[in-house]
Amino acid sequence: FDDRDGQIWYDGVMVPWREAKLHVLSHGLHYASGVFEGERVYSGNIFKLRAHTERLLVSGRILGFEIPFTADEIDAACIQVVQANGLTDAYVRPIAWRGAEQLSVSAQQTKIHLAIATWAWPNLFGADRMKGVRLDIASWKRPHPETAPTASKAAGLYMIGTLAKHAAEAKGFNDALMLDWRGQVAEASGANIFFVMDGELHTPTPDCFLDGITRRTVMSIARRHQMKVVQRVIMPAELPKASEVFLAGTAAEVTPVRQIGELNYTPGRVTETLLNDYEKLVRMGPAEVEALAPI
Ligand code: PMP
Repeated sequence: FDDRDGQIWYDGVMVPWREAKLHVLSHGLHYASGVFEGERVYSGNIFKLRAHTERLLVSGRILGFEIPFTADEIDAACIQVVQANGLTDAYVRPIAWRGAEQLSVSAQQTKIHLAIATWAWPNLFGADRMKGVRLDIASWKRPHPETAPTASKAAGLYMIGTLAKHAAEAKGFNDALMLDWRGQVAEASGANIFFVMDGELHTPTPDCFLDGITRRTVMSIARRHQMKVVQRVIMPAELPKASEVFLAGTAAEVTPVRQIGELNYTPGRVTETLLNDYEKLVRMGPAEVEALAPI
């Protein structure tokens, strides 16, 4: 992924893709002192850019550092890097980390870096999207909020996600459904999960994993359809009761789930409606998205 043309925004300046390097003694590499974001560009607009930028800043503060750019500067940098690469439908990856000035567990003197990369990500909506993905229940668990900084989109937390996803892939599944340390249903390796139960939309309370921006968007779309949205504790024993299941995330968008472990699901009307509405929403301009206040 490092050997290609393009520009990456790096600590305030645009650098050629191949030259966007860091030192091997960077604290972020050794001790996972990094936080990142994943954003999508649709028809030239970054969807919910400010919400992502704010989460990036908060993620850094949770890890005890202040990213040395304001929200306005980060928003502008994201837009600038997309334009510099001539992209209209893309993924944007801002990442902040502690530098190589000090290499020990304590790293108060390190410089905080910020880089923003972007690459083409064409729209994947369409008939194929309704086919759905297969999830395996992971043996790795989402940790207690006193064990890990679970409200931060912290690089270190993705160690668990990668382990869970690799184990699922080794068994022929697309992704992992992770439970939390209590055995409650949590989320997939990079997306939140929803269940349709008795015509209502149920989703786990995000008390030890990300309350995703897509998750909140999907909940307000559902409420606009007069659907009841319930955030609660969901146990694996309830999974057979769901009539439809889907994932929600910036990369996943709304992705139907057709299997969890031994259980099969048929993506249906609710998933299709929310998927189509999400597709319409992401293509509206920022002002129109703003006008649709979350409910
Ligand atoms: N959980 C995890 C672990 C994720 O990586 C993501 C993607 N950022 C999400 C949930 C969904 O968050 P969002 O909708 O804000 O992309």
